[in-house]
Amino acid sequence: MASCKQCGAPLAANTNRCNYCGARNDVDLHAHLPYKTEQSISKRTCPGCRIALTTIRLLDDASLYIERCQHCFGLFFDRGEIEIFLNESVSHTNEINLEHIDNINKDRYRKPGGFQYRKCPQCGILMNRVSFGYRSGVVVDQCSMHGVWLDNGDLKHLQEWKKAGGQLLQHRQSAASKKSNAPTALPGPAKTAPRNSWENFSGELGWETAVAILWLIWKLLLAR
Ligand SMILES: [Zn+2]
Ligand SMILES: [Zn+2]
Ligand SMILES: [Zn+2]
Repeated sequence: MASCKQCGAPLAANTNRCNYCGARNDVDLHAHLPYKTEQSISKRTCPGCRIALTTIRLLDDASLYIERCQHCFGLFFDRGEIEIFLNESVSHTNEINLEHIDNINKDRYRKPGGFQYRKCPQCGILMNRVSFGYRSGVVVDQCSMHGVWLDNGDLKHLQEWKKAGGQLLQHRQSAASKKSNAPTALPGPAKTAPRNSWENFSGELGWETAVAILWLIWKLLLAR
């Protein structure tokens, strides 16, 4: 069991705030992963604390630069980086341990109260709330342009989820439901107009049919 870096009291599972002294403890990086600070003030802002994030380099993989909040210990990964991180930090497993996946999810610390949509550290646009993976129990904030924000504890949880075969389960699940393709995104804040409705339309009808219909409409308009 991890202990509080300030007072030494034991930390409850998946909690980062000490019940005794109230200090926050970084349960993702300090205890497990070596990292090096590259830039103490980056241009990106913590979506929770509204302070400048710090750019760090994870020493396991010298090419992985991510942003970290020094106050809440949240982490921002550029698009695709979290997948790289999981691939490199957790070795591939061929076994799916459903019981263990359920147990780590039951153990997981839940923040009291509801959630708020938060702004992307890079562009400031409200991010979507997206389930990270099948039965991972982790909902991340995602900017489709820039990346994902993980609260402290999420990263460690995702590593455990992968170790228990969660990612394998996710791959099988998505392969099985490719046709019915259930979206994992929860209802987002900024529902943009269906941008690709024309693509769907022409995709379903076929390009020639769509052109023929347009031509017909044009003819009808001319004939009036
Ligand atoms: Zn403490
Ligand atoms: Zn923060
Ligand atoms: Zn963004």
